[in-house]
Amino acid sequence: MRMSGLLVDRSLAAELVHDLSAATNASATPVIAPFTGEVLHDLPQSSARDVTDAAAAARVAQLAWVRLGFAERRRILLDAHDRLLANREELLDVLQSETGKTRGQAFEEVFQGASVTRYYAVSARSVLRTRRRRAGIPVVLATRVSYKSKGLVGVITPWNYPLSLSLMDVVPALAAGNAVVQKADNQGALTILHARRAFIDAGVPAALWAVVAGDGNEVGNAVVDSVDYVCFTGSTATGTKVGVRAAGRLIGASLELGGKNPLIVLDDVNPQKAAANAVYSCFSSMGQLCVSIERIYVQRAVADEFTKAFVARVDSLVQGAAFDDSTDVGSLTSAAQLERVTAHVTDAIAKGATVLSGGKARPDLGPYFYEPTVLADVTPDMACWANETFGPVVAITVIESEDDAIAAANASEFGLNASVFSGSVARGRRVASRISAGSVNINEGYRATFSSVDAPMGGMKQSGLGRRNGREGLLRFVDARTVAESTGVLTLPRAGREFARLAPAMILLLRILKLARRR
Ligand code: NAD
Repeated sequence: MRMSGLLVDRSLAAELVHDLSAATNASATPVIAPFTGEVLHDLPQSSARDVTDAAAAARVAQLAWVRLGFAERRRILLDAHDRLLANREELLDVLQSETGKTRGQAFEEVFQGASVTRYYAVSARSVLRTRRRRAGIPVVLATRVSYKSKGLVGVITPWNYPLSLSLMDVVPALAAGNAVVQKADNQGALTILHARRAFIDAGVPAALWAVVAGDGNEVGNAVVDSVDYVCFTGSTATGTKVGVRAAGRLIGASLELGGKNPLIVLDDVNPQKAAANAVYSCFSSMGQLCVSIERIYVQRAVADEFTKAFVARVDSLVQGAAFDDSTDVGSLTSAAQLERVTAHVTDAIAKGATVLSGGKARPDLGPYFYEPTVLADVTPDMACWANETFGPVVAITVIESEDDAIAAANASEFGLNASVFSGSVARGRRVASRISAGSVNINEGYRATFSSVDAPMGGMKQSGLGRRNGREGLLRFVDARTVAESTGVLTLPRAGREFARLAPAMILLLRILKLARRR
């Protein structure tokens, strides 16, 4: 049944929320559909007790899961991959209904989620298999490193990319033999529960991946207090609290936080082509994307032509609520987001910024719609200069030299993502090597790095700690265990006389190892 502006069947919503770990008499909170402002469904709110109960059951399920071994886990995860794709139309409906993003931008999440599922299903064994390492004394000792699953991993996710950000942490945690307790944002829980079904149907035990929702402090704290490792994605302010709490328990944490991502447009670009690529980089999911571009630094030689082409393209974006591919940009996700974006733009205009495109809410389209907005003459006294807007607002600044552009890009407390547009890939790479950010894209805004699931992703400076994706994303979820043995070929010295006898041979060994440049 398709409802006005919503694509979620109420009985499907009721069925999915049933999978949430929450007491049967839990209070519920209404979740609003951003396209229309209607109540999408009522979401039960978990308590700290629900988290500890779910954690206890997950720990029991983990004991069997880790014993299954890599081959069986790989089979299950690859089956989940196929089920995600097979169920994608309904999943896209739920995702759009909860977030207000376009069909195409929702599809990007499904693509990323399936991609990361395949990647970890296939690569977990080779990354985590027991390996020999160089022994401290060749022949005399033999050394191996194996990996032990952490046990129970906590995953705390925001509302903006509920599907892909969840799977980027949950799947590697499962692939490494762990259980997961996930704290979903209320706005996004349905998408997570829908995607989770693909995994349960493929053979992941339901208790192994529990999902809770509710108050950030109560439920979030309970998750950090119950697990052996925590992955947090969200704001720098909350991430700092999570990091401090995790440190108090001596558990590890990866923190994927905010950004104020720059794009440098060098003077050797084709301005029309650069403008076309830049627009997508700024307004995907209405800029409610951690790696979205909010600052453009363009070299003077191409500034006029680039800016004109950029603004023309922004002006021609089709905005609206549609559950097909007829729109280019959708809605902001919540009233709080509309308030935040409006405040940044109003402040900038009051302090002298020039609006080149957009700058207004669009209540005629839906309650939280806001025009993609391009600003010029943005100055350090404006809120949007250094603070993350997390919305569809980009500032264009004309800059003289390549060095100035790099300095401006790096002049931020954040260091999450950046982009360099150049007619020469070699020049782009040279500039990229001087940018302080966890990911840098050349002639793409964010998709080149975001989709490269074999490569680590994360932030420098206030943008976070640790990395997801790639080997790094998997190694978070295990403890290394070194086992070294005496081969019996020679006994190591134990008494003073034995040291005196063997020391010259040992010094000779050190010299030979150095000459051979042996690690
Ligand atoms: P947020 O920090 O407000 O909330 C994130 C999650 O943390 C939510 O589930 C929330 O309920 C929970 N939470 C709140 N208080 C908590 C506490 N004390 N302990 C534990 N959990 C708690 O962030 P948000 O507004 O939902 O998301 C937007 C922010 O996320 C932006 O800054 C954006 O840049 C960032 N983000 C970063 C990445 C990344 O990969 N680096 C990805 C997406 C979003």
